Amino acid sequence: MRNSNCLSCKAEIGVESDAFVGEIVECPDCGEEHEVNETNGSLSLGLAPEIEESWGE
Ligand SMILES: [Zn+2]
Repeated sequence: MRNSNCLSCKAEIGVESDAFVGEIVECPDCGEEHEVNETNGSLSLGLAPEIEESWGE
C-alpha cells in the first residue's frame, strides 16, 4: 500500500506494506486515527470509528 494522507489535516501517513484491514493508523501530525479499509481490492484509509473509552477519572 502506498502512503496515504490524513483525512483531517492532509499530512502524509506512512502505511506499512503489510497493513491489514481493520488496523488503526495514527496520523503523526494531528493524531487522528484512521482505519485501514479495503475498497475494490485495494487498501485505503478511512476515519476510525470513535470508541468511547473510560479513562478512569
Ligand atoms: Zn492529521
